[in-house]
Amino acid sequence: MKVFEVPSAGAPAQEADHPTPELTGADVLVRVTNSGVCHSDVHCAEGYFDMGDAGKAPVESLGMAFPLVLGHEIVGEVIAAGPDASVQPGAEKYIVFPWIGCGECAACAEDRENSCTGARRNLSLQLNGGFSREVYVPHERYLIPVGDLDPSWAATLACSGVTSYSAVTKALTPEADRPIAVIGTGGVGLSAVALLKARGHKNIVAADVSEDSLKNAEAAGATATVLTTGEDPSGDIVKAGGGKLASAIDFVNNGVTSSTALGALGTGGKLVSVGLFGGQLQFPTTLVALQQLKIEGNFVGSLPELKELVELAKSTDLPQLPIVEKPLEADEVNAALKAIEERTVSGRTVLVAG
Ligand SMILES: [Zn+2]
Ligand SMILES: [Zn+2]
Repeated sequence: MKVFEVPSAGAPAQEADHPTPELTGADVLVRVTNSGVCHSDVHCAEGYFDMGDAGKAPVESLGMAFPLVLGHEIVGEVIAAGPDASVQPGAEKYIVFPWIGCGECAACAEDRENSCTGARRNLSLQLNGGFSREVYVPHERYLIPVGDLDPSWAATLACSGVTSYSAVTKALTPEADRPIAVIGTGGVGLSAVALLKARGHKNIVAADVSEDSLKNAEAAGATATVLTTGEDPSGDIVKAGGGKLASAIDFVNNGVTSSTALGALGTGGKLVSVGLFGGQLQFPTTLVALQQLKIEGNFVGSLPELKELVELAKSTDLPQLPIVEKPLEADEVNAALKAIEERTVSGRTVLVAG
């Protein structure tokens, strides 16, 4: 099968032929129709993740090996299935859940495969991803019907969508009027604002350094906005929410935003750390103890969470990020990765098979 693989760190993606895998059990082979391009694909193609003061973590330390077939926002059609699969090959489109674990550890047994402690099988990381004509999926259970959703937008639910859904789940409190702040209202943060609103939260403070982003956040459902360029951003966030925060979701997560968020939390408050911008956390440790603060990291989301999000998307009118569609070809993979790296694209690029 034809793939568009990155042969070595920093090299452009190129077309290559891989043998089509033998299907056993309930494995499936999916023809890729829509394949979203994500910022983390850029890091993987470069060959490392930036860990701030801790230096660079090579992708090999995550169990990855070049050549890499990237792309984890995948929609496609089943073209072949193993003998135990019940799904039929055909034209129905499915979102492929890409965050697949070992299937044997305690987290996997609880359907929290994104917290797997064993040998992970994430598509685009350890297994081949969606920058390809076809993708091998280890079990039919990872397929979720697209239904009437736009397939390119549906593809983005598998990474950026489920990441903000899962972060919102961690941040939500039963007290709908207590303030929750979303820090960084670019693409993923903006969908978190919309999801907080869709899930019934009433006090949503959007914080960003860009006035344009804050306008978008207001349109998506933020009840207050804060430009965090002042002298006391924590105090400004508290003022905007009418009190100290129940929780904050930090989609930037650098040294400045993480301490700003912690400084705005009330007693028992939670910081949900999502962004990968890198940096060092600086905060008075005594306050963490006295105020019983919590910090919880968030990496993508689980299969049940993606199913919940898809249900929500089918039953409510969630705002959609602007999507640019391009042909699924090697040169478009490279152009899309470059555009993300140079920040010349707004919204998401989704590669579409002809
Ligand atoms: Zn992603
Ligand atoms: Zn596992």
